[in-house]
Amino acid sequence: MCHPPAPHLHPTRLPVPRVDLAKPVRPTTLAKEAALDAAMAARSACPICHRRFHHCLPLRTIGSCLECLDGTPADPASYIAPLPRRTGTG
Ligand SMILES: [Zn+2]
Repeated sequence: MCHPPAPHLHPTRLPVPRVDLAKPVRPTTLAKEAALDAAMAARSACPICHRRFHHCLPLRTIGSCLECLDGTPADPASYIAPLPRRTGTG
C-alpha cells in the first residue's frame, strides 16, 4: 500500500475558526427598556395597594398613592390593576 501525498494540505497552518470569539451581538434595546420599565414601575407603583399608575407617585414624600394616603379615590383609568396572584401550584 502506497498512499499518494496529500495535495496542498498543511494541517498545522489551517486557520481554525474560533467559536468562542464569534459571540452573537445582541442589541441591548430590550434590556434597557426592561430596566427603564422596572425603574418606572418602582416610581409609579403603590407599595400598599400594588396598583401601577400611569404617572409617577410621590413615593419620596407620601410613600403611597393618594387613595392609600387619605382615601382619595384614584381614577380607574389612571392605573393598571395588579395582576391577581395565583395561589397554590394550580
Ligand atoms: Zn395605593
